[in-house]
Amino acid sequence: DTIGDNLARTAATWPDREALVDVPSGRRWTYGQLLVDVDELAYALLASGVGKGDRVGIWAVNGPEWVLVQYATARIGAIMVNINPAYRTHEVEYVLKQAGISLLFASLGHKASDYRAMVDEVRGNCPDLREAVYFGSPSWDALLARAVPAELPGDLSCDDAVNIQYTSGTTGFPKGATLSHHNILNNGYFVGELIAYTEQDRVCLPVPFYHCFGMVMGNLAATSHGACIVIPAPSFEPRATLEAVQRERCTSLYGVPTMFIAELNLPDFASYDLSSLRTGIMAGSPCPVEVMKRVVSEMNMAEVSICYGMTETSPVSTQTRRDDDLEHRTGTVGRVLPHVEVKIVDPATGVTQPRGTAGELCTRGYSVMLGYWNEPEKTAEAVDPARWMHTGDLAVMREDGYVEIVGRIKDMIIRGGENIYPREIEEFLYAHPKIADVQVIGVPHERYGEEVLACVIPRDSADPPTLEDVRAFCEGQLAHYKIPAGVRILDTFPMTVSGKVRKIELRERFTG
Ligand code: ATP
Ligand code: MG
Repeated sequence: DTIGDNLARTAATWPDREALVDVPSGRRWTYGQLLVDVDELAYALLASGVGKGDRVGIWAVNGPEWVLVQYATARIGAIMVNINPAYRTHEVEYVLKQAGISLLFASLGHKASDYRAMVDEVRGNCPDLREAVYFGSPSWDALLARAVPAELPGDLSCDDAVNIQYTSGTTGFPKGATLSHHNILNNGYFVGELIAYTEQDRVCLPVPFYHCFGMVMGNLAATSHGACIVIPAPSFEPRATLEAVQRERCTSLYGVPTMFIAELNLPDFASYDLSSLRTGIMAGSPCPVEVMKRVVSEMNMAEVSICYGMTETSPVSTQTRRDDDLEHRTGTVGRVLPHVEVKIVDPATGVTQPRGTAGELCTRGYSVMLGYWNEPEKTAEAVDPARWMHTGDLAVMREDGYVEIVGRIKDMIIRGGENIYPREIEEFLYAHPKIADVQVIGVPHERYGEEVLACVIPRDSADPPTLEDVRAFCEGQLAHYKIPAGVRILDTFPMTVSGKVRKIELRERFTG
């Protein structure tokens, strides 16, 4: 199936079931109505001269129009390009030019950002850009007014590119992964299958659509199973998220670990009725065991899944299963997805490691991207001639086939010749009563090369843990070289829009 055919199939099967709810505006769509509106937008795009293979940008926070654009572009074989809503003029100009975008959809503005003013500023430098359309403005109505029912292109293949998604930019400059219908529709379908989505499910999505977590594991997983997409707010807010779950009786809730931490730590957390929840997904960065346990017991999400993956692999490669016990659900990222291969190799030699030994996780199968858009050299660095994607993540495959993520190769700390994985120390420090959130990084040290630094968000800002507290807590529990030599107290961590901590920025801040 192409993504458009798949949506049409769902709409034919469950025309009257709810497909999409935008909580802030109160607007709702059934699958029947969603397909009508998607097709109206598809006709309007055709009438505006957008055709197969053309790039259509979307620079917006979450909203129902995002979903319409996602499916309408797929329906006509155009390639949607997701643009980070945190971008500013310089970055948006880069993407508009690099991807050769001819039509851009954008939010009018969000919080302090005026997207229209920024587009106006760079338009003159982007010769491919013919038109900009803003959600909730006359330009959107004017576009839709052009729609005349027409023949949708019949020559689309599921191997055609449908989407350029940028990586989070956690470790450097984001890279644009080109993905086909087959890549992302299959991946979304299997993710939904493994958490047993049916047309009865209602999926609360506070994660950005701009990122694969929202648009593939969220939107495509839901619509390929007839489940309903619930949008709690344009961007993440813990209260709005829990209110949406309660009001819309959601059965599934997504988040990166920091989102779940923010929800669980709300002073009035216990006042929300979360009894409708049964499942959800935590992914994107290491999922602390303590947080996972609280999500299972206090948020009623007994079947919550951890997924591991990356934008370049559509994104999911491994996932926990519904009947996994708590140890597997908290201590691993699950087993390999159907039709996907995973191997763990020695990063230096490329030799496959025996089970139980750490190495770089490589993955192959339908899910590996077509390539980085217009960057064949970068593609060749990441995907080898045998089509294995080299993830840059260190992992162990256990005897029982479950995978543990040790950490990113780039985040590993080497102190006096000892390899230290920040993850292990972070997991340990999460149990400290004065610590709400913690990130461990390596900072340069004259004698040891690198030294361990713990960046801490305290539970109570008036009573933060001291270096002595932290060291005493670790003493006798962790090997001496892993015990933090420094502690820095912060209010927040520098984050990507997809909710990941930019350790690179912490390292820069605390170096020198
Ligand atoms: P960039 O590649 O631009 O530096 P990024 O790698 O964060 O950013 P994404 O594609 O959004 O961009 O994220 C993929 C990465 O996220 C993986 O390579 C892995 O390091 C991390 N990750 C994803 N899921 C998990 C998980 N469940 N546990 C640990 N790490 C995870
Ligand atoms: Mg990456």
